[in-house]
Amino acid sequence: MDSVSSKSIMNGTNFSLSEEHRRLQSRARAFVDEVLVSAELECEEGGGLSAGRISELTRSVVDWEFNAVNHSPEDGGQGYDNFEQMLLNEQLGRATGALWNVVMQPASSMRFATPEQKREYLAPTCRGERREAYVITEPGAGSDVRAVQTRADRIDGGFKINGEKWFTDGGGADYLLVHAHVDGDPDRPTVFFVDKDVPGVRVEKTPSFTHNYVWGHPQFVLEDVEVGEDKILGDVGEGFELTKDWFVEARLAIGARCVGAATRATEIANEFAAGRVQFGQPVRDFQAIEFMLADMAVEIMASKSMLYRVCWETANESDPKLAHARASAVKLQCSEMASRVCDKAVQIMGGRGYQRENPVERLWRDVRVDRIWEGTSEVQRMIIGGQIKKRGLDVYTGW
Ligand SMILES: Cc1cc2nc3c(=O)[nH]c(=O)nc-3n(C[C@H](O)[C@H](O)[C@H](O)COP(=O)(O)OP(=O)(O)OC[C@H]3O[C@@H](n4cnc5c(N)ncnc54)[C@H](O)[C@@H]3O)c2cc1C
Repeated sequence: MDSVSSKSIMNGTNFSLSEEHRRLQSRARAFVDEVLVSAELECEEGGGLSAGRISELTRSVVDWEFNAVNHSPEDGGQGYDNFEQMLLNEQLGRATGALWNVVMQPASSMRFATPEQKREYLAPTCRGERREAYVITEPGAGSDVRAVQTRADRIDGGFKINGEKWFTDGGGADYLLVHAHVDGDPDRPTVFFVDKDVPGVRVEKTPSFTHNYVWGHPQFVLEDVEVGEDKILGDVGEGFELTKDWFVEARLAIGARCVGAATRATEIANEFAAGRVQFGQPVRDFQAIEFMLADMAVEIMASKSMLYRVCWETANESDPKLAHARASAVKLQCSEMASRVCDKAVQIMGGRGYQRENPVERLWRDVRVDRIWEGTSEVQRMIIGGQIKKRGLDVYTGW
């Protein structure tokens, strides 16, 4: 995909998508409808999908060439820019059960891997043969990443890692990117590649959550796990910078998926409201319902405008500090919007909106976590408040 074409969206007076972007958008939509939506109920009713079914879906992702869109072709990816990634992620957000997670987007920080690490981890992850989980959170370290207790103590030829990682995306992974403090020093946060099957790594528990996602979120214990120097991603002490880099991409992806989720919920509620008759008229003709639909449409429009603008900027301009500042705003706005919109969609559908077989109910449940992970809404507000203080309001309003 030619990333230069992204410029057409904000080029002077032309805010429309290029032909190329429209093609990508409709191909992504077709993929979601044909491949992911067909697995939704199975995922919901089974509390996730079997390994066999996940492999099948993974093959489809590769066949449709939607694997690793966020990595360069040299590293085995599709080389989409941030705007193109957003167009795909928006459509993926329509699927329930986090089926979007099957569409592998290996952590962007892996582009800093050594050639050997790329061969061992990144390339097979791009091909759908391996999968990573980026594990930072711990019992005592959630929003406060510096409070991480997992330590990597130097030993002859490498490190010994000890710690506990909670709320992971590790159910579908075969290796972990472990955020640990070298010699217990919070000023030396470092990311390590750790294979799940090495001695000392064990799953303590896989708790149930509100959603039924494609795979679970196990809690890992790492006990005297020995890794070589060659398992460090980047350098000792770079863990926080690598994680920050990953946060920008992950937060924009959440924003995009939330817009996709809210749009699908609104489409379904809108269609229902036109066909459902009570008191002798379609319920959409009651102003109470019509006003909800109006608010939902406007909320999506506002969030989508912001999302497209920021993703266009991060695709075409390269100020990482601004990208970080604005990705927080996108994540905050889109995740809170999606909760409000999906809640109204449930309300419009009445009892039917509360049934798990209804995608609207699942979307409502699924988007709840988007206000919690990758930095809670409160943490995003802290970041935004800090940016206003440091750089001025213009970061958000001066354009
Ligand atoms: C399903 C799921 C999957 C996840 N996947 C991953 C993963 O793959 N990898 C990973 O590393 N983590 C993952 N997480 C963890 C997630 O990022 C954390 O849950 C999140 O960062 C919040 O941390 P916490 O849950 O410990 O809440 P806490 O940090 O304990 O926060 C509790 C409350 O206090 C508020 N709060 C905290 N600090 C402040 C402050 N300074 N000012 C105002 N309010 C504050 C929070 O906003 C929240 O409301 C996942 C979580 C879930 C639920």
